[in-house]
Amino acid sequence: MVTDEAPTEASGYVQPEIDVPALAALLDGEYAEIRELVRSNLKTYASILEEADELSLDAYRERVRELVVEMAATGQTGMGFPREYGGGGDVGASIAAFETLAFGDLSVLVKVGVQFGLFGGAILQLGTERHHDAYLPDLITGKLMGCFAMTETGHGSNVQALGTVARYDARSQEFVLTTPGEEARKDYIGNAARHGEVAVVFAQLEVDGTSEGVHAFVVPIRAGGEPAPGVRIEDDGRKMGLNGVDNGRLHFDGVRIPREALLNRFADVTPEGVYESPIDNPNRRFFTMLGTLVQGRVSVGGAAVNAAKVALTVATRYATRRRQFEPAPGEREQLLLDYGLHQRRLLPLIARTYALHFAQDVVRTRLHEVFSGIETDAQARRELEARAAGTKALTTWHATRTIQECREACGGAGYLSVNRFAALKSDSDIFTTFEGDNHVL
Ligand SMILES: Cc1cc2nc3c(=O)[nH]c(=O)nc-3n(C[C@H](O)[C@H](O)[C@H](O)COP(=O)(O)OP(=O)(O)OC[C@H]3O[C@@H](n4cnc5c(N)ncnc54)[C@H](O)[C@@H]3O)c2cc1C
Repeated sequence: MVTDEAPTEASGYVQPEIDVPALAALLDGEYAEIRELVRSNLKTYASILEEADELSLDAYRERVRELVVEMAATGQTGMGFPREYGGGGDVGASIAAFETLAFGDLSVLVKVGVQFGLFGGAILQLGTERHHDAYLPDLITGKLMGCFAMTETGHGSNVQALGTVARYDARSQEFVLTTPGEEARKDYIGNAARHGEVAVVFAQLEVDGTSEGVHAFVVPIRAGGEPAPGVRIEDDGRKMGLNGVDNGRLHFDGVRIPREALLNRFADVTPEGVYESPIDNPNRRFFTMLGTLVQGRVSVGGAAVNAAKVALTVATRYATRRRQFEPAPGEREQLLLDYGLHQRRLLPLIARTYALHFAQDVVRTRLHEVFSGIETDAQARRELEARAAGTKALTTWHATRTIQECREACGGAGYLSVNRFAALKSDSDIFTTFEGDNHVL
């Protein structure tokens, strides 16, 4: 960033006495090792921050895909998957890795989230061994790219009211997937416009004329790079940000998938066409299914805290170097950070960022305990879901507010793309909406 001068003691800047390694160790916590791996990968791929502004839409999407696959090869994106499939077997570490990725390009972050968190997470949490065997090894390496196709044009927050239908045909032992109208087309789906070969599609299951509610199915959407038979794919086009992610729309025109494509951890359909579930209450079944996907919400919440840290780092450094106005004629101009007003703008945001960092530590730890079987109490799972929703809303709103304040605190320099606020603002804005709209949460 262009500044008047670098901070030196001679210029009146006093280096605060902070034990930086101790503070870093405190903030990294138990996941220092994986965070360090992600930070070193971010350094290797730092050029993406500049390329993002220069590449065409297609080239940016390809570059982001390449980076995601290269990062997968280092093990950083597979921490949440079982070891027997090539993962790291550590849920907490997978969230810590994702959070740390938010120091870099946020399209890379979100593509990682789509591929390993949403798509991979749905296969892992809603599927059973046959799905794990079929998909996990290749999705963990990024060889098989996939989508999490829940939202429709007509319904995003109220996913219980989705319109896509999966009707069981007992004669052929297949499900027939249909998009009944434009309102029911899948929309905003990450990896759909270019790279996804399969999608976990959420649809209303119909068995023998009875609707059994929303269930998830694995559906091939591309073969040899072209839409699979019966699948129509549209590109959502340019977005406010995150343009390195290929979001798109999916329509299904009577697409036939085998009975085994139902992700059947919580419910199944027998070959003869009998619906079976260990959870009798349809409402409870639906929320149990959704509850297993809470890690996405925890991940976005943690990423938001770190996006705020990037903004605050830039703005605080600027404020310790930039001088405007002399206190008295003949005196040196004063550092921005010496102004009470500037302190009141930045310091409470820094304090709140620390507070939210530690709040995120709590929710990540709870998630790890519940999803690793350390905590088995059903009440603890419900408390985790409530805490994840609240923390996500607080951290993502905090990021939006902080990034704007930091941009203004850097004056005109804050407006230059090179200083990162343009990307930070446009890429993180949607964090308040996806993984659950904050007001709805
Ligand atoms: C870049 C991007 C990537 C995405 N990726 C995916 C993906 O990969 N897979 C996927 O399935 N989805 C994805 N989504 C969809 C995203 O999850 C939804 O947009 C989100 O859940 C909000 O749904 P909606 O857009 O229908 O908003 P709506 O639900 O229509 O909300 C609009 C407004 O109405 C308010 N509102 C809604 N209901 C109520 C209520 N009951 N009371 C008061 N206020 C209410 C909300 O607070 C909000 O302000 C993505 C979206 C974007 C933009």
